[in-house]
Amino acid sequence: MSKITSYIRKLLLMAGSVVRKNHNSKLLYYHDVFGDKKYTDMGTSLNLFRQHVSVIKKEGYRIVPKITKKEGEVAILFDDGFRGIYDVRQVFYDEGICPTVFLAVELIGKECYLTKEEILELQEHGFVFECHAWSHEDLTTFSDEELIRELKDSKEYLSELLGKEVSEICLPIGYFSDHLLEKIRKYGYATIYSSAPGDYETLIHGNMRARNLLQSADTDEVKYILRGGNNLLKQHYINLHYKKIVVNP
Ligand SMILES: [Zn+2]
Repeated sequence: MSKITSYIRKLLLMAGSVVRKNHNSKLLYYHDVFGDKKYTDMGTSLNLFRQHVSVIKKEGYRIVPKITKKEGEVAILFDDGFRGIYDVRQVFYDEGICPTVFLAVELIGKECYLTKEEILELQEHGFVFECHAWSHEDLTTFSDEELIRELKDSKEYLSELLGKEVSEICLPIGYFSDHLLEKIRKYGYATIYSSAPGDYETLIHGNMRARNLLQSADTDEVKYILRGGNNLLKQHYINLHYKKIVVNP
C-alpha cells in the first residue's frame, strides 16, 4: 500500500471509530505471529502482537475462543497455518488465547507451514482448526467438479486429521460469488468467513462473517478498528471480493 493510501485509510478508520463508535464483538485476523524466525511477509512480530493484546484489553475486550456475546468480545483467527505460531505457542498458552487457524490441505507440512504433528499438539492446547479449502486459490475460478475437492474432500480430510467435525470455512483470498456460497452451504459448512471487515453480528451477503485484518496495524489502528472504524471501509472490501458474474459453468 502506498504511503498516501495508508494515510487516507488511517484517517477513514479514525473517522469511522468516531461516527460509528461501538463496543460490538469482532473477529480479528492475522496470517502469523513470529518470534526469531519470520515465515511470511504477512507475519506479525511477537512484539507487535503483544502490543495489540494490550490495546484489546485496555479497550475493555475479552479475548475468547468463540464469540457468544453481542458486545465486548473478540476472537483471534489465523489464515493459512504458518509455523510462527508454533514457535511462539507458549505465549498463547500463557495468555490463555485459543485462536482459530484455517488450514488449506495442500499447504500442511510444506516449508514455512505447520506439520500435522504440530497442528495436533496445538489442538491439544486449545487451538481450533478449521477449513481453508484444499489448494488455497480463488474458489470462484473452479468448476463444480473441482469444487468437490476444494470443499468436500478438504472437509473430510481435515475432520479425519483433527478427529472432530470440521464445519467452518474461510474463503481463500476472500473472493466469493452467489454460486460459490450456495455450494459451500450444500457441502455442510455452518459458518463461512470472509475477508471483509465489520462487527461480528453483521453478516455479509446473508451468512458470511466479517473479519478485521490486524496483521500490519499500529496500536492506534487497532484501537480505531475495535471502536468500529472499519464500518466506513466495509462496503469497499465487499465490492472488491464479490464476483457478480458466475464464472463456474
Ligand atoms: Zn489464506
